[in-house]
Amino acid sequence: MRVRVCKSAKREQAGFQSIGPRGLWGNSLVSLRGLFLYNTGMTAEEKASVACFIDVASDMVRGGYFRGEREYNFSDEPDAVGSFDSLDEIAAALKNCKACRLCETRKNAVPGEGAQSPLVMVIGEAPGAEEDASGRPFVGKAGQLLDKMLGSINLSRETNCFIANIVKCRPPENRDPQPDEIAACAGFLESQIQTLNPRFILCVGRLSSQALLNSTEPIGKLRGRFMDCKIAGMTIPLIATYHPSALLRNEDYKRPAWDDLKMLRAALGSSESGAT
Ligand code: SF4
Repeated sequence: MRVRVCKSAKREQAGFQSIGPRGLWGNSLVSLRGLFLYNTGMTAEEKASVACFIDVASDMVRGGYFRGEREYNFSDEPDAVGSFDSLDEIAAALKNCKACRLCETRKNAVPGEGAQSPLVMVIGEAPGAEEDASGRPFVGKAGQLLDKMLGSINLSRETNCFIANIVKCRPPENRDPQPDEIAACAGFLESQIQTLNPRFILCVGRLSSQALLNSTEPIGKLRGRFMDCKIAGMTIPLIATYHPSALLRNEDYKRPAWDDLKMLRAALGSSESGAT
């Protein structure tokens, strides 16, 4: 259902730019908008009205207010996320999910795959074209490299890893997922983490690392150390590293990525010896 409400011109037409702390506050409001809207039972029209109110507030915080028309594509579907008893239930729910605009262009939602009691949950950003076509995570060239990276420290999706993304549907043209899309999908990821209860999380790429650590630091600053990921009522040690597709583009990232994997291997070793 497409709902048209509120007067406000398109930002691009108005030459709108978000700069400095005002831009950051404005962006935070938009992120909150996603969190707020996608976890309620509101109708599409109600969601559009609230979104419009928050967007105007966000524009004003950023330093501008525009007149004109704005469209919202909310759906009347119930909440994207409910409570689930199993990974299969989560996968079934997200395959029919229409809680954000990515449902309009996906071929297949990509829940993730791997061991049901994993040592490590690997979390990337979003499905690409091959993942969208197959419904499986990390199956392209980057996925093959990820499998090799994991294999080098005795991990694999067949035995002791679960691989997923922060959003389950492919963003068009492989663009970055937007904050409201990440927020809309966050409940599915939380439910997966709660169900899987992994011993460690390995985040590959900037967006998943920032989302799970609630940070805006670049990946170069987030990687190279373990941090606590507080999610779904749990605290799980998380290490971030470069996305395999970044490694394919830039050889310089291979050495630090290998250093991160060695840290994970050492932590897995000590956690196993500590457990015995
Ligand atoms: Fe639903 Fe997530 Fe797909 Fe958006 S990305 S439609 S929230 S499953």
